[in-house]
Amino acid sequence: MTADDLLSRLAAAMGPRGLAVGAAIPARNAADAAGYPPRSPRAVAMPETTAEVAAVLRLCHAAGQPVVVQGGLTGLAGGAVPRPGEIALSLERLRGVEEVDTASATLTARAGTPLAEVQAAAEAAGLVCGIDLGARGSCTIGGNVATNAGGNQVVRYGMARRNVLGLEVVQPDGTVVTGLNKMMKNNAGYDWTQLYIGSEGTLGVITRVVLALHPRPRAVQTALCAVADTAGALALLSRLADRFGADLLVFEAMWREFLAVAVSRLERSPPFAAIPEVVVLVEVAMGGSADPAGDFAEALGGLMGEGLIADALLARSGADRARLWSYRESPYDYARLGLPAINFDVSVPRAGMAAAVAELRAAAQAGWPRSLTAMFGHLADSNLHVVVLQDPADGADAGAVEAAVYALVARHGGSISAEHGIGVIKRPWLALSRSAAELALMRRLKAALDPGDILNPGRVLG
Ligand SMILES: Cc1cc2nc3c(=O)[nH]c(=O)nc-3n(C[C@H](O)[C@H](O)[C@H](O)COP(=O)(O)OP(=O)(O)OC[C@H]3O[C@@H](n4cnc5c(N)ncnc54)[C@H](O)[C@@H]3O)c2cc1C
Repeated sequence: MTADDLLSRLAAAMGPRGLAVGAAIPARNAADAAGYPPRSPRAVAMPETTAEVAAVLRLCHAAGQPVVVQGGLTGLAGGAVPRPGEIALSLERLRGVEEVDTASATLTARAGTPLAEVQAAAEAAGLVCGIDLGARGSCTIGGNVATNAGGNQVVRYGMARRNVLGLEVVQPDGTVVTGLNKMMKNNAGYDWTQLYIGSEGTLGVITRVVLALHPRPRAVQTALCAVADTAGALALLSRLADRFGADLLVFEAMWREFLAVAVSRLERSPPFAAIPEVVVLVEVAMGGSADPAGDFAEALGGLMGEGLIADALLARSGADRARLWSYRESPYDYARLGLPAINFDVSVPRAGMAAAVAELRAAAQAGWPRSLTAMFGHLADSNLHVVVLQDPADGADAGAVEAAVYALVARHGGSISAEHGIGVIKRPWLALSRSAAELALMRRLKAALDPGDILNPGRVLG
């Protein structure tokens, strides 16, 4: 099949709106949110049905044509950025919530449905979707599952994996595998769906997703708590988990350098008289209480009495809550600072977190002392985000900063990617978090499921 033959067969399989070539290729299909250099694909296929996804893959498989899968393009690992000669398979037209089954507490959606649309459909039925993240307006549920995404409420609902009950997947040769399971219990053979969750588009294309929904949390209370140090934040976490159990919805830690950037450079008002070593944003559902705000304040007061909390701000209104969240969301404004940023989403076992934070500070002081090294993260999930806002006067190249941070993470038995995935950006560092035997198993799985290596080649594995 010649290149032109392939394009005309793809166009025939999807109709005139299904294929963009040449000048008609939208600029958005050249990049994701990782800041990796953009590259226009050879063509963009935009199938509207699972059958059309299957037809695209069948044709590309027969032609040996490499394909890059694209959802909402909010990924932070460069995995959806086209490599030379690739055709982009965009899920943007495979969109819509197909069903909310309130009796089963499940939702079935097409892969290209934006997460915010999935959340709204769940809420309209009086339930909630357990997946939430800052990119909710643009990211797709298929992309969330493909990256095993997890955001601010993982402490309550787990990562995407824990919320997925069933999937429909198209294999690289065009074979459709449908397993739209709605049950919590189903041990009939291998749960093959697990393989595709977090596979970053390297094993198959996710076309439909069944999610478990959850009861809506009621009377949610929000507070910003100042604590003495990292060990103190972990002690607070264990007390809150013990007291509130599954009602603890959010536990987001921010260290002093992070708050200093928010206050001195990004116009956030100082939350406390002096910047504490660590602040934690806490949300708890107090639906079982007759006086939710009062009981929450009393609980925090008790923890203050024990010395676990040094000071606290409680949200009394929606505006208060937005103000408390604005500290945690300040990294969305980092681009305004005009400094080159190196972003890390690492994880370290909680027992080693205090030492890792101290060692990160020491590494920054020794290697890039003028740059701003801000640390924040989903502490309950062992997930630490580190952003190095580089001062050119340091002369530290990004590779040297990455080598120092990843070596430290590996020493602590941590992971180079807690949530954003490997894509292409973290591929060179994968062996720091996975053994040779694990990498060999991953390669065998890839070779078995995509023997022609046409799907997202060069992502995750080299
Ligand atoms: C402001 C902001 C906040 C974020 N916060 C978080 C966070 O808290 N937690 C978190 O985990 N991530 C976060 N992210 C990263 C990103 O939003 C997630 O990785 C998201 O799940 C990607 O979804 P997407 O639809 O945009 O996928 P894309 O960026 O389009 O693709 C991501 C990867 O998945 C593959 N892929 C996409 N769709 C499919 C499919 N249907 N089938 C197979 N493979 C597919 C792509 O090939 C690529 O490798 C954030 C990003 C931004 C910009």
